[in-house]
Amino acid sequence: MGKETINVAIDGPSGAGKSTMARLLAQQLQFVYVDTGAMYRAIGLFAQRAGLKEENIHRLEGMLCGISIDIRYEGGFQQIFLNGENVSERIRTEEISRYASLVSALPPVRQFLLGLQRRLAEENDVVMDGRDIGTVILPQAQVKIFLTATAEERARRRHRELLEKGEQISYEQVYQDLLRRDEKDTTRAAAPLRPAEDAVLFNSTEYNLEETLCELKKIIREKTGHAV
Ligand code: C5P
Repeated sequence: MGKETINVAIDGPSGAGKSTMARLLAQQLQFVYVDTGAMYRAIGLFAQRAGLKEENIHRLEGMLCGISIDIRYEGGFQQIFLNGENVSERIRTEEISRYASLVSALPPVRQFLLGLQRRLAEENDVVMDGRDIGTVILPQAQVKIFLTATAEERARRRHRELLEKGEQISYEQVYQDLLRRDEKDTTRAAAPLRPAEDAVLFNSTEYNLEETLCELKKIIREKTGHAV
């Protein structure tokens, strides 16, 4: 038996700041950061390249044996590989966000990633962010945080990020996409987005990055006694 690892699960809707917080917390705790959204995005990219559309997305189930997802760490950053190709940058577009949301509603896709996610948490102290980490993937996690913000604030943050990356997109489009994805993620039958019963809820709408980080560190200290 290996030693018990410390697992911090951060769930919540798109644009609530999960990835930023999880990455910073992992750095400060010297834990491994696991971005599970990137795994769904990589599978979304595969589906897009395979020419699948919303109407026939279920055909992906028969293609899963041809997909390998790997994560590696370079300079402390998670890099995601789809069949050996580093797709870390390519998956960060609105189109791939929509595909990620589509493929993540398929139970065989969730099952496919569950093993990889659990193994990472068994072998390492992790901060893992996603939608079902506290509820399904790591129900034993010592810390579970459900991070939210209003839809308007989340859309504003996402819009700013996309503009900085040079994507030409209006706030209204980002806002509507976000509402559609919220709806899909919370109403799907397979592992819908919801807080675990023992999760600490934190609404970051009125907090800036430093303040949010500070509050989350407080939660982790209280739950684990870990100095952070
Ligand atoms: O977090 P991110 O926006 O990168 O995730 C992309 C999509 O992947 C989400 O909209 C959601 O549909 C899906 N996802 C999921 N379960 C996770 C992580 C992401 O269903 N644990």
